[in-house]
Amino acid sequence: RGDLAMYEAKRDGRNTLRFFHHHMESDVTYRIALEGELRESLVQSQFMLHYQPQVDGRGCILGAEALLRWNHVKRGVVGPAVFVPIAESSGLIIPLGNWVLRSACVQLADWADSPALAHLTLAVNVSALQFRLPDFVAEMLAVMKETGADPHRLKLELTETLLIDNVEDTIDKMLQLKEHGIGFSLDDFGTGYSSLSYLKRLPLDQLKIDRSFVRDVLSDPNDASIARSIVALGQALGLGIIAEGVETESQRAFLAELGCDCCQGYLFGRPMDVNMLERMIASAPAPA
Ligand code: C2E
Ligand code: MG
Ligand code: MG
Ligand code: MG
Repeated sequence: RGDLAMYEAKRDGRNTLRFFHHHMESDVTYRIALEGELRESLVQSQFMLHYQPQVDGRGCILGAEALLRWNHVKRGVVGPAVFVPIAESSGLIIPLGNWVLRSACVQLADWADSPALAHLTLAVNVSALQFRLPDFVAEMLAVMKETGADPHRLKLELTETLLIDNVEDTIDKMLQLKEHGIGFSLDDFGTGYSSLSYLKRLPLDQLKIDRSFVRDVLSDPNDASIARSIVALGQALGLGIIAEGVETESQRAFLAELGCDCCQGYLFGRPMDVNMLERMIASAPAPA
């Protein structure tokens, strides 16, 4: 339990730690319990998506990132840092990931019907395990077709894990999906193992500066240098840049000075349910 708690604490800050105080005997028991509960919850549809705004340099909401939440009957709302690793190691990430893709596309199609919301993009996290499935492209396209979502409004967030092996397959799938208008963002950029030569070949649209570099960007010169380099790299490769985990106005201003205007973070809004997001947009200036 200690290792898992530490691991989650590192991944997700303070929020998830609370969750670990109450139970359980060991890592293994805990994981097995959660895995069983995950399986049941999938059947009982206890999952939901929350949405965190992504804003431009003027603070206009361009879209949102869909973040998975588990509405657990006994444990309350459980965050993905706790259960996504378990879903991945048990294979449940595939049905769960399909549910996420479908729900996100249903949401996009719903927004498209409303003039005030039709401009929104939706970023969706895709596990490397799911992206590697041979039929991922077909599945994705089927979901778009069934839901009527506009692929140009969908952005898939991938992580550098996909670059470690099978880069060719990753590139091939990305190109197929791009042909239909789907965009790609490289999540948690700088925390993985991507080689720059692969990065150059990936048909990406955006780099996402990881929260770990943003947190101390004002006080730690190394983080500032890394953030500056990521912006420069993105610009050199013709990619958009977005920073995640922006919590303060000074972080936002500093990043903007570096050339990163687009932000996501508590400064602009926590992940929230769709009604809250829609209310927030109704009261915010619309992008030009
Ligand atoms: P991520 O994709 O890097 O998502 C950003 C995480 O940072 C989210 O945590 C978000 O709540 C948190 N965050 C955003 N702004 C701030 C901020 O200003 N300060 C702080 N301290 N945190 C901020 P969350 O929702 O717990 O998700 C954690 C990770 O779980 C995600 O990291 C992503 O890797 C994974 N995940 C979430 N939803 C899904 C999903 O539907 N599918 C898959 N495969 N993974 C998901
Ligand atoms: Mg993400
Ligand atoms: Mg991220
Ligand atoms: Mg991150």
